[in-house]
Amino acid sequence: MTASYPYIGRFAPSPTGPLHFGSLVAALASYLDARAHNGIWRVRMEDIDTPRCIDGADSQILHQLDAHGLQWDGEVVYQSKRHSLYRAMLADFVSKGLAYNCICTRRMIKDNGGVYPGTCRFANHPHGQTAIRLQLTHPVTQFYDRVLGEVTVDDPHALEDTVLKRRDGLYSYNLVVVADDIEQNITDIVRGSDLLATTATHLSLYQLLAQPSPRYAHIPVAALSIGRKLSKQNHAMAIDTNQAVQNLVQALTFLGYKVPDEAINLSPSSVLQWAITHWRCDNIPKKREIIVAAQDSTYHTQPRT
Ligand code: GLU
Repeated sequence: MTASYPYIGRFAPSPTGPLHFGSLVAALASYLDARAHNGIWRVRMEDIDTPRCIDGADSQILHQLDAHGLQWDGEVVYQSKRHSLYRAMLADFVSKGLAYNCICTRRMIKDNGGVYPGTCRFANHPHGQTAIRLQLTHPVTQFYDRVLGEVTVDDPHALEDTVLKRRDGLYSYNLVVVADDIEQNITDIVRGSDLLATTATHLSLYQLLAQPSPRYAHIPVAALSIGRKLSKQNHAMAIDTNQAVQNLVQALTFLGYKVPDEAINLSPSSVLQWAITHWRCDNIPKKREIIVAAQDSTYHTQPRT
């Protein structure tokens, strides 16, 4: 077992659909890391982007976690109920002179190569139908990752003045995740490597807020082919709760475990117990993605034509 230190981890799914193999791997890795450190493991529903959320997906996800023995601690937190927290954080950035109004449209930014060039930084636009952006003069681009080691992010999105509040009035993902992780005293974040550049942005926010940042461990994402992450858009299959042990064994293998054949006859909680005892961050493949068999119906289904 890994040495214990004060540890609060979390799994933060967006309720835009049920868990698929990729999201099960993320849930499992954060759960095992927390439990191997005798830590707390929280679940937070990231339902801030309400138009993308699907009714009932939250309870489906919780049922799937439960069926796999992934028991969380405390109440499940919903971002949609925490607007006052986000309002306060936004006000903090505004009062520090670190936020400005931006009138640029998605189209304008796309025409500029997709990265926001800071057009409105000194324009002093009055607030109205505007987005609010962070003035990011010293972006963080390097950090230590418990799986990947020293990471240097070269994605230009990590350098741009990120949106704090969208034009449509919704708080941005980057603002709310950092607000939640600070408010929930999260010490450790284990999540997919597709969020590496996002982590750099989050670390910039922690720095500007003079808050201690959590430790990070980025695990490989399951992909159907290079750069094509398993996702709802790629018709990822919902994991079948009647095959919990098989799913766990498959997810553990993905995370670098050599699972004994007998495991398949155990209960989900016994498999998890074994996995907690054998958890080692060092065994996780140091890769951004791992290609899973695209033909395997565990992972995804072909779209109907
Ligand atoms: N809600 C994000 C997702 O489902 C995860 C964000 C995070 O772990 O910080 O991809």
